[in-house]
Amino acid sequence: MSILYYSTNEKADKVNFEEALFKGLAPDGGLYMPDNIPHIPIDVIKSFKDMEYHEIAFTVMRYFLKDLVEDSALRAMTKDAYDFDIPLENVYQRKYIMRLDQGPTASFKDFAARMMARLMQYFIQKKKRDLLILVATSGDTGSAIANANFELDNINVCVLFPEDEVSDRQRKQMTTLNKNITAIAVDGKFDDCQALVKQAFKSDELKELNLSSANSINFGRLLPQTVYYFYAYAKLIKGDEQMTVSIPSGNFGDMMGAVIAKKMGLPIEKLIISTNANDAFPKFLETGNYNKIDPSISCISNAMNVGHPSNLSRLVALYGGKMDENGNIIKSPDMKKMRDEIYSISVDDKTTRETIKSVYEKYKVIIEPHGAVGWKGLETYLEENDNENKLYISIETAHPAKFPDEIKKAISIEPELPSSLQGLEEKPEEFDKLIPTYDNFKYFLKRTFK
Ligand SMILES: *Cc1c(COP(=O)(O)O)cnc(C)c1O
Repeated sequence: MSILYYSTNEKADKVNFEEALFKGLAPDGGLYMPDNIPHIPIDVIKSFKDMEYHEIAFTVMRYFLKDLVEDSALRAMTKDAYDFDIPLENVYQRKYIMRLDQGPTASFKDFAARMMARLMQYFIQKKKRDLLILVATSGDTGSAIANANFELDNINVCVLFPEDEVSDRQRKQMTTLNKNITAIAVDGKFDDCQALVKQAFKSDELKELNLSSANSINFGRLLPQTVYYFYAYAKLIKGDEQMTVSIPSGNFGDMMGAVIAKKMGLPIEKLIISTNANDAFPKFLETGNYNKIDPSISCISNAMNVGHPSNLSRLVALYGGKMDENGNIIKSPDMKKMRDEIYSISVDDKTTRETIKSVYEKYKVIIEPHGAVGWKGLETYLEENDNENKLYISIETAHPAKFPDEIKKAISIEPELPSSLQGLEEKPEEFDKLIPTYDNFKYFLKRTFK
């Protein structure tokens, strides 16, 4: 049975994967979800034990993509996308940290961005066209997408960032690539960048440039984010136990990867969703009432400063409910089942800092603020549920070297830069500057990409 994708708002037509990938958002404002989730037999999952990561990625994603992407092409894409390590670091007993921080931008977002880039390239080459990806960024998303698409034929990326609001390192990650990556420093704020990109998408005049976005709510992001849960389980499992994973969460894309993996048959006993002070979800799970946090609270785990997780409507849909894009619950999900399968906790900055310190003191393991939120969630869960024979995994979503000040404050150590982030200082930067009016932007695009 081939898989189609419905909108969580239930008012748009179903589409196939390719359309969901290029549309991103459904026309009714909802998010795309698969209308059936393929099942992977447990012996296949266990056979991943002897496979390399890219082979596991091929096998898992093939269940969704086999009607649309030739095996040889999918194999090549996964091999090319996943050419870095995924360390599973033992902390104590059968408690592990999975480090998803070895990609080119040292964040777990590389896993999805690199695969999405290659899938988009595959479909666009079949049509013998070029694609121009526009991204507005406040820092990290732009560099992940730029790096993921770097040197891919038929794809150009144009990334807009607010000139005075990104760090030197963030800027250099976007401006030192060149080739098919064009960086624009906007004399304004992130919202100005976002407004320009939105207007460009609406414009008829720019249709021939074949614009696309690579935004965070794309189903194309969730699929690659299922794979590392299969990998961790297969590599670490002994016998027939189940595993428990703790996921530091903001927009819940990473967490949705785990939920879909569970639906595909991965034996996950409990999912721990750890948030920073933005605690709308833990409160919802406890009370059944959902109140988004507006404005969101600024925490040191800054990639998780999300007052209303955009993927929440997907989770609600999987548990039989319906939530609109503003966070209104139209139909309540099965809260009992959700509580059986999910545990959730909010961790404030003070506790996050203490956790970085105590994990280093106890285990000599260095984690950064996002990973610390995840680890604290696991620790809290273990206070009541520990079983030393079972497998527990906490996710580290970024490299500690991206947060040198916090790490130094907590444990007086300066974490070493991963090789992907080394040498940025010496590379020449190239970028254009733009006064943010739509006409300026439009003429820039026409001049540069025709
Ligand atoms: C984006 C991000 C998160 C949160 O992931 P979601 O999928 O939005 O929940 C956590 N940690 C880091 C480092 C991130 O960049």
